[in-house]
Amino acid sequence: MTQNCEDTVTPEVLAEMVIMGTGTSIGVPVVGCRCSVCLSDNPRNRRMRSGVLIRTPQGEMIIDAGPELRMQLVRERATLIRAAIFTHSHADHIMGIDDLRIFGFQLDDSVPLYCEEGVEEQIRQTFSYAFSDPSTHAHKYAAPRLRFERITEGQDFSLLGLDIRTIRLKHGELPILGFRIGNVAFCTDVSTIPADSREQLRNLDVLVLNTLRHKPHPTHLHLDAALNLIRQLQPRQAYLTHMSHELDYDELLKELPPNVAPAYDGLRIAISK
Ligand SMILES: [Zn+2]
Ligand SMILES: [Zn+2]
Ligand SMILES: [Zn+2]
Repeated sequence: MTQNCEDTVTPEVLAEMVIMGTGTSIGVPVVGCRCSVCLSDNPRNRRMRSGVLIRTPQGEMIIDAGPELRMQLVRERATLIRAAIFTHSHADHIMGIDDLRIFGFQLDDSVPLYCEEGVEEQIRQTFSYAFSDPSTHAHKYAAPRLRFERITEGQDFSLLGLDIRTIRLKHGELPILGFRIGNVAFCTDVSTIPADSREQLRNLDVLVLNTLRHKPHPTHLHLDAALNLIRQLQPRQAYLTHMSHELDYDELLKELPPNVAPAYDGLRIAISK
């Protein structure tokens, strides 16, 4: 029998973060594209739209609800999503909200959507059938049961036993949120991180950060800019997400520093204090 001689103390794991989708807004493969990444057999080059599942001893929740939410939850064998948290309201982050209907039935209660005011407005417009008088429309018995819980920049909130820190990020001109839970931060669709927010992202074990491609882009980090931020923030490990078909998993991995790797759909990250 082998003895485990590790002298490092494993910190108490509070929860697990599953990166459900690592693709940019049109997904990878891109419909109709014949490039080497889109035609690749490597499962790590197949990227659904962005989203995160968090499993805690008190239940499951998600960050963002992309258009492939149902398929992602089935793939990850999720059981009952008790809450959704939103980074921002772009279509690739909210179009799966109707897939939360089943959880409203199972909970026999509304599913709370934690978001900023502007995100709430967009969700109300996009899913108007979920917020109007059900007797007046065709979805009488089938509209999702949803409610809003307001979160704001710089105000921590608690959900399913986890303390979640909101972090202001910029997505081009658009202010959006990133989230830090214990030793892990999830920041997607970022193009710049304000100085105050960078302070909130120090001493991380894991930083998940978006990287669209090699060339600069007005509203998303490109590879050099992401690596520059990672050098400043010095997480123990960084994972790149929200990637386009211009990034091949194996080729990208080879050019990254040892503490940086591309994320992939299904990647699991331990959250501890
Ligand atoms: Zn996006
Ligand atoms: Zn392609
Ligand atoms: Zn976006």
